[in-house]
Amino acid sequence: MSGKGDKPLRPETITARMDNFLDRQSGAVIPPIHPSATYARGADYAQIGGRGYSRDENPTGEPVEAVLAKLERGAGAALFTSGMTAIACLTQALDPGDRIVASRSQYFGTPKLFREVARHWGLKVDFIETENGKALAEAVRAGPCKLIWIETPSNPLWAVTDIALAAELAREAGAVLAVDNTVPSPVLTRPLELGADLVVHSATKYLNGHSDVLAGAMVTAREDALWERILQLRYLAGYVLGPFEAWLLGRGLRTLFLRVERCSANALAIARHFEGHPALSRVCYPGLESDPGHEVARRQMFGGFGGMLSFRVQGGAEAALAAISKVACFHRATSLGGVESLIEHRHTVESPDTEVPPDLLRLSIGVEAVDDL
Ligand code: PLP
Repeated sequence: MSGKGDKPLRPETITARMDNFLDRQSGAVIPPIHPSATYARGADYAQIGGRGYSRDENPTGEPVEAVLAKLERGAGAALFTSGMTAIACLTQALDPGDRIVASRSQYFGTPKLFREVARHWGLKVDFIETENGKALAEAVRAGPCKLIWIETPSNPLWAVTDIALAAELAREAGAVLAVDNTVPSPVLTRPLELGADLVVHSATKYLNGHSDVLAGAMVTAREDALWERILQLRYLAGYVLGPFEAWLLGRGLRTLFLRVERCSANALAIARHFEGHPALSRVCYPGLESDPGHEVARRQMFGGFGGMLSFRVQGGAEAALAAISKVACFHRATSLGGVESLIEHRHTVESPDTEVPPDLLRLSIGVEAVDDL
């Protein structure tokens, strides 16, 4: 889409205007919901609107996919019923025997899924500290590698992996680089511009932003054979997002920039406020100059470092749980990326097989007045 005089519109504008959506028939400036599961054919038995059945593609989701593809600078985007469905679909697009090199620190559901699929499909998965460039290079070069999977900043330690370096290693190995971009969102990081092949989102989080939809998204750099296979799997297995959720996601998405900018500014202020606090052994936030991932984060995140941070509390689990019992203004709840602030004890949520330290509290910072938080 272009603006006046063919000057390309800025992503904030594309998002707020839902890619300049206008229904020519009704004049509606907001996309309609199409609940229809099936589409009619004419007397000649040709499809009237080019559609047959909505397991393939859902017209309510299409304007959302178009905006997402533009925000991530991709060639195409696809919506899924959840972030995990999108990740499962990518895993299923691999072949038995393929090897995945994946971040060790990341949202705990992903390694669980990788291990489960690997067990049944004969995939090999190596989990390594991808934030350590040397370790990443060694792991990728250790044998044939089909997929490099990274999450950055990683949940809930917020370790930062160098996306450009991972892309270089992927190219060298003939592997696909997929990046879980849920936490920074395309407002702060655009992995495809740094050489990644695929971007995955839990759209449940910042893309929707209101904690009222479960959704996932994938964006591709190229409409290649892998992308075709992913779309085919989505169609065959019925992973496509339903129309009502797709519509809500589109509505939430329109304020993405405002929300992410505010969440990031609030999180940075809170991280700075608590850095060096005697009750904490560490504040994990890549926006702090003292954070080990700060330099790389500055290179690949622009306009902020995101709304997620963690506190390591002096005194272990007991002290962390005592602190969480006292907070005001935060809901004690899982998930992230909503307009409301949440706090959680990940060790409890992920137990028993978790590597998250018991003294860690994870905070998802919302858009409230920072002084209240
Ligand atoms: N990726 C990240 C970074 C997440 O935090 C989550 C969920 O918390 C997921 C993926 C999974 O997404 P969903 O809950 O939408 O399936």
